[in-house]
Amino acid sequence: MSDKLSCVIPDCHRVRATRGLCWNCYQSARTIIKTGSESWKSLEEKGVCLPKKKRALHSPFGKALEEANSKKETKDEQTS
Ligand SMILES: [Zn+2]
Repeated sequence: MSDKLSCVIPDCHRVRATRGLCWNCYQSARTIIKTGSESWKSLEEKGVCLPKKKRALHSPFGKALEEANSKKETKDEQTS
């Protein structure tokens, strides 16, 4: 099992960076958003990106927090 998820775009198998997208797709999305034809929200609704996480920084603190949160979620699932 890998903790490196891949991009949400079906034809793209790069490692996920932010908003469920790899940097490549993220940059493409940003470019489209800049043109004003789409927004992060509209892309989210179309399922081609994910909502932004609360500062999932690649810092030890951010990682620890993320881990703590995922443990909590797992626990909740197990008790149900
Ligand atoms: Zn991608």
